[in-house]
Amino acid sequence: MTSVEGVSIALKEVRAATGHITLFASLPCTWGSTMQNLWKHRGRSNPKYQRRMADLLLQLRQLMANFVILAKAVMDKRGDIVFEWPAYNRLWKQPETMAMVREFKLDMVKLHGCALGLTDTQGVPIKKPWCFATSIPEVVKAFSVRLCDGSHEHAVCTGPVLKNTENYSDEMARVVHKCIHARACGWSSTTSSSSGTSGGAGSSDSGARHDDTPPSPRERRLLPREVGG
Ligand SMILES: [Zn+2]
Repeated sequence: MTSVEGVSIALKEVRAATGHITLFASLPCTWGSTMQNLWKHRGRSNPKYQRRMADLLLQLRQLMANFVILAKAVMDKRGDIVFEWPAYNRLWKQPETMAMVREFKLDMVKLHGCALGLTDTQGVPIKKPWCFATSIPEVVKAFSVRLCDGSHEHAVCTGPVLKNTENYSDEMARVVHKCIHARACGWSSTTSSSSGTSGGAGSSDSGARHDDTPPSPRERRLLPREVGG
């Protein structure tokens, strides 16, 4: 997703889709993690560390720009977005992220891993805070009640335990799928009852385009340069 080819392949899939599309994204978020917040003070005078952080931010900006192109194509076909990052990651406050949330009018919902079966290898709950920015009301409703009830101790989240929290719990994945399914079912009935009406504002996209159309001039203009290596 940092290359023109990668975005083109994804756009082609979106254009060819005939059913409801949900674009679920979690871009690399190391730059803004709470651990990096601690490290950045120690690494302030380390050029190698500073260079790595600058590279991470550049990569994130390229990914976000391409994500927005793809998300726009999905939204033009009346699809949906679920965008996930840890709740307190600094990337939520970056201008690109805030602009994306505004552009697609996404709602935010915070959730805790321990309320979704996330534990360490000993079975001790982990209170990992996540946040979804989404266009799916079912996701907001389902996850807004998935917060820690304070009835248990939490595992200390460092080292391998912290690394393991990059993965979603089975329960979290199940709830997300249930929400997407509900949304897609509602979408099907809506389209069948309103056939003949066109899609999004300013769009002439009244059906799937089964072609190999490369990104439009506007899309190409937005595509950032490819990441080397
Ligand atoms: Zn808890």
